[in-house]
Amino acid sequence: MKKHYTIPVFVPELACPHRCVFCNQNHITSYDHSPSIEEAKAIIEERLSTIPDESIIEIGYFGGSFTGIPPEEQESFLELARRYKQQGVIQGIRLSTRPDYISKAVLDRLGAYGVTTIELGIQSMDDDVLRRSGRGHTAGDTEIASEMIVNRGFRLGLQMMPGLPGDNEKKSIHTARRIVELGASSARIYPTLVVRDTPLEMLWLDGKYQPLAMEQAIERTKNIVSVFEQNKVRVIRIGLHPSEGFLNGSRLRAGPFHQSFRELVMTEVWNEKFQNHKWRYDEKQVKIFVHPGDYNVAVGYRAKNKKELLNTFHKVKFLGDKNITKGTFYVDYS
Ligand code: SF4
Repeated sequence: MKKHYTIPVFVPELACPHRCVFCNQNHITSYDHSPSIEEAKAIIEERLSTIPDESIIEIGYFGGSFTGIPPEEQESFLELARRYKQQGVIQGIRLSTRPDYISKAVLDRLGAYGVTTIELGIQSMDDDVLRRSGRGHTAGDTEIASEMIVNRGFRLGLQMMPGLPGDNEKKSIHTARRIVELGASSARIYPTLVVRDTPLEMLWLDGKYQPLAMEQAIERTKNIVSVFEQNKVRVIRIGLHPSEGFLNGSRLRAGPFHQSFRELVMTEVWNEKFQNHKWRYDEKQVKIFVHPGDYNVAVGYRAKNKKELLNTFHKVKFLGDKNITKGTFYVDYS
């Protein structure tokens, strides 16, 4: 199976008119300009030189609401990506934006330049959570935008943020189920963090907001991932990308940040699979075959799952088998 690569190009919406409680506008506006087309090209070329032949490659315009920047700028970036696509160097173009920045005219433009995937930062499908988070759009806006995107033949990606003000387990799972029903082919899950100089930091300091505890965030994200796995929605990101600011604590104030958050969550996803499996407890040893891409998380963070199985069996061996569907496993007792 060919490997997928996305070349990210950060295109901020410098004058974002919204005030999402979790967002540090200063950080965004500290980018005093979007990359020029030459800079974007240099980013793409540099990354392309590191990607092996025979890969599936996309260019992704991320970092803000792409369809909120001036149309002429959008067209320059889209034209650049279209040229790579026409030459067969890349196979897809994706971008991220907000649900209320989708219209027929916007989709006409994106379609004309060969965009393949549109990601929406929807964050929640609960209107109270959206209101308390200052998002400035409703769940209904997400429904309309998603339907338009899918009906026009684009692939849909949806991003959610468990743990926003007013959110709870039930609302998070409801959001995940709606993401499935809206026809998303991929999803990103970003548990809410309290970032310095944000309205959320003020709420937290005033004792009006409490982020998810680490264990809670892992458990909730595991349940969300299970909804997506069961419905064949590809989870392409779990947790915020570790940046220097988060690692040294200069930007992060509170919340469930861990450098290996994805591994911690996927360890629990696999732990649940093993707990639900009907083992032959009379056997002494067991070999567990998984897709090579699942090997580390099946064994578990710090070998948690393997260690637990060793409480039952004398010998536990995990083996990679690329013919196995990702997320599944089979067991051999010989
Ligand atoms: S997260 Fe909200 S406030 Fe921040 S750039 Fe996006 S839309 Fe604007």
